[in-house]
Amino acid sequence: MKEKIFKRLRKIYNKIDCELEAKHCRFCVECCLDISDLNVTPLEIDYINYYDSTQTISWQEYNNKTICPYCDIEKRKCLIYELRPRFCRIFGHFLENYYNFYSACVYRESHTVYDKNSIDKIPYHKEFCELVKEYIYNLHGKEQEEYFQTLAHPLREAEKIRNSIPEYMEAINKTPGYASLYYHLGKSYSSLNMKNEAINCLLKSLTLDPTQFQAYNLLSFRFYELGFIDYAIISMKRALRSAPWNNRAIFSLGLFYFEAGKFKEALENFEKLINQKENFEGLENYIKIARELLI
Ligand code: SF4
Ligand code: SF4
Repeated sequence: MKEKIFKRLRKIYNKIDCELEAKHCRFCVECCLDISDLNVTPLEIDYINYYDSTQTISWQEYNNKTICPYCDIEKRKCLIYELRPRFCRIFGHFLENYYNFYSACVYRESHTVYDKNSIDKIPYHKEFCELVKEYIYNLHGKEQEEYFQTLAHPLREAEKIRNSIPEYMEAINKTPGYASLYYHLGKSYSSLNMKNEAINCLLKSLTLDPTQFQAYNLLSFRFYELGFIDYAIISMKRALRSAPWNNRAIFSLGLFYFEAGKFKEALENFEKLINQKENFEGLENYIKIARELLI
């Protein structure tokens, strides 16, 4: 029974791959270093375990991880690439939030944004969901019960973030020169409100690779929270050097200038957004106030 469903899953994967073939991922593995938002189903993990016996990991264990357990960080490669779950196949082609793009991702110029109302844009989404449902309802009593238990009691977010810290530290021990790992560790510290630890990790990350948008972007917010508005501005400007397309960062830079009383610079950034017909909450108000203050 399971084998038949796995074969049908393989067909869906093949169809998705055929449709999304146009551009090839550059295997930077950025998107594999934080899988906490990936919605991977038990069917997909069982499928991997069925065809690859080198390491068996349960769906429950997979869900508690932050770094993908199938990612070989030292070699920067996916250990089960042919068997990878659906979200890994569509990542970049389809995204829930454009501003979540890693600045070096090859798919930035050719992606589709979806939300929960337009998730059907993902190729073969309906067919995939029906297969997952069928699989779960055909699981043996105990397996099915475990699945529903995990869904009903997911690890609390704070606990998951806390657990991510030793994961990143272990990875850093193995590959101490990998800048992105310090960024992700800094992000975890940041989410736990450990500002100084976060800043240290982000600075370390940027020492190793000064072109990272994400690290500068996050760093600027931490500086802002600590009241170092000039450092926040410098960091956001550097973030924008790596990702000048990131309108959310342009908006943040405008806000930092506004906060620093530099209304001319604030206005310049806000007007860039208006020229691109971009709107962020409160943007028009900020423009109005900045203009009045500049008269
Ligand atoms: S399964 Fe492979 S592609 Fe997907 S997150 Fe893990 S390492 Fe990356
Ligand atoms: S971030 Fe983009 S380019 Fe890098 S591994 Fe992920 S999908 Fe590929």
